[in-house]
Amino acid sequence: MSANAIQRLDELNSGRPLDWWLRFSAPVQARYDLEHAAGRTADIRTAILIGLILYNVYNVTSIVLLPDVLLLSLVLRAAIVTPVSLALVWAIGRTPPQWTERLVLGGILNAYLVPVFLFWLTRDSLGLFTFGELPLTIVFANMVLALRFQHAAIFTACAFALTVLAVLTKEGLDAPLRFSFAVQIGTACLFSLYANHRIERRRCGDYLTALGATLRATSADAARREFQNLSRTDALTGLPNRRHLAEQLDAWCATPDAVALMMIDIDHFKLFNDALGHPAGDDCLRRVAEVFAEAGTGDDALCARFGGEEFSLVLRNASEMEAARRARNLVQAIEALNITHPSRADGIGKVTISVGVARRSNGVPASPATLLAAADRALYQAKSRGRNRFVLDRGEADRFATAG
Ligand code: GH3
Ligand code: MG
Ligand code: MG
Repeated sequence: MSANAIQRLDELNSGRPLDWWLRFSAPVQARYDLEHAAGRTADIRTAILIGLILYNVYNVTSIVLLPDVLLLSLVLRAAIVTPVSLALVWAIGRTPPQWTERLVLGGILNAYLVPVFLFWLTRDSLGLFTFGELPLTIVFANMVLALRFQHAAIFTACAFALTVLAVLTKEGLDAPLRFSFAVQIGTACLFSLYANHRIERRRCGDYLTALGATLRATSADAARREFQNLSRTDALTGLPNRRHLAEQLDAWCATPDAVALMMIDIDHFKLFNDALGHPAGDDCLRRVAEVFAEAGTGDDALCARFGGEEFSLVLRNASEMEAARRARNLVQAIEALNITHPSRADGIGKVTISVGVARRSNGVPASPATLLAAADRALYQAKSRGRNRFVLDRGEADRFATAG
């Protein structure tokens, strides 16, 4: 998790997260799409629907301005551009985000063609006034719809080229008027594209700033958790350490739940080290720790290295019988590992453990320290009765009841 977050932070910092066309790098774009695709789709849908209403209002002005091509205007706007745009509204939520932007670019180009064509086609003298619709459509695309900058640049270039072509080839226009129209559309293009660049640059910049902050917080959080894990883990065996055990024991003892605690000690381990050396001793600790780790799995058990060759298993809500059964299993499992112990005097010849078990019944307010002391006493008895066994601390209910 932490490595992941740091890697993503590196990806963000390395190279250019934003290019000249205000395009994010691929990993940033993927993340942006994940977070913003739904909002972007909703925005585009609203803009298209509002744009369509205004667009069709021009059917009314066509009655006055384009009487000679009125029917064509009605057909193109209401029977072609409108259904195509509505199909677009339906489609954009269902396509990958990069296709959404391309479809919107196609849709707005399609919508722009109609007034340019009608302006070019009409022979009515008032038809020239329909030119006013063109800069407005460009402003709509670049600033209301706010096409992504690269798409806005493509749209603006196409719109400018088409319009200039229409102005230059339209019949009956004198040269100064052609020039004025070209300048008007040129300024509308430049102005709205500049505005689009500002909108887009702010959107991208804000996102990168927020993303950087999020990733830094994530990796700091991951590093903190990793550090916390390390500080609660025993380096040799990978088991939880004494600090972790203390936290768990404190937490469970603070509830009314029954808590059982086992103190586990490897028998004659000093002799084992003396005979086979410290590295072999370490190996032995790791092997027995694997058995303990398995015993400590689940939400109601935790096994920790207490220190040296001593381990602890703490159980929540285990009956006395269950605790005894698990202690017996541990003793048998370590013996079954068959780790040769060449120098013990009792003739057992392999590594074994002794276990002292103390238990606090449900609702009995025994502290962790009281439990630890009782488990230690039981361990001492297991040692003195010959080792390789467990002893359950008896009479703990009376003792805990008075010890509080
Ligand atoms: P007993 O059966 O009474 O518990 O005898 P013991 O020899 O196991 O007990 P003692 O406390 O005398 O010795 C514990 C030994 O554990 C001494 C020490 O060398 C060894 N030990 C403690 N920590 C480590 C460790 O991290 N690695 C190795 N290899 N040995 C360790
Ligand atoms: Mg010991
Ligand atoms: Mg020992």
